Amino acid sequence: MVFKYLSCRGERPFAPTNEFTPTSTPKTTEVVGVDLGIKTLATLSTGEVFKSIKPYKKAQNRLAKLQRQLSKKVKHSSNWYKAVVKLAEQHRRVANIRKDALHKLTTYLAKNHGTVVIEDLNVSGMLGNHKLAKSIADQGFYEFRRQLEYKCQWYGCELVVADRFFPSSKTCSRCGHVQDMPLNIRTYDCPECGLSIDRDLNASINLRNTVSLTVNACG
Ligand SMILES: [Zn+2]
Repeated sequence: MVFKYLSCRGERPFAPTNEFTPTSTPKTTEVVGVDLGIKTLATLSTGEVFKSIKPYKKAQNRLAKLQRQLSKKVKHSSNWYKAVVKLAEQHRRVANIRKDALHKLTTYLAKNHGTVVIEDLNVSGMLGNHKLAKSIADQGFYEFRRQLEYKCQWYGCELVVADRFFPSSKTCSRCGHVQDMPLNIRTYDCPECGLSIDRDLNASINLRNTVSLTVNACG
């Protein structure tokens, strides 16, 4: 409790943005493609994988349980108030878990990569697929893009959003062959060049290549 009061009266825990000095950081990788998905939060073209926000799912189940409990209480009774407080606390916990995972990912991307290529998720992933649409909302992909935009500015990284019609999942990242890839198929098997690769990794490499190709064409 003492700490609570201290933080209220003392210095602000977070510096206001106008006092923050953006600093460009040294980059370990020039260009990275990032594929956001259901099974994993993010797959990078370097082969790195950020796992799905599991604790969030667990916390969400508890959230639903608390909501049910609340609905059974007599409104404005002391038990009802207790349930309201519990529910609010759980909401905050869930929000924090999500924010934390996204901050870790976006900071890592912006600090260590010269260019980050992501998909335009407004359309591509959500075409009539409710499960995917829900997952996109749950995992906070819009928040992901928002964070990435300002962190790329902070850390001197370029953010590229691939064309929304670019078939990153359907294209072979080695030979360019294009085939249908229903969501349940987790491995990309290319009949043309024989490449067999994780679906998300293939997509992230394609995203990365969109930038490499542009650079080569200009050079
Ligand atoms: Zn191929």
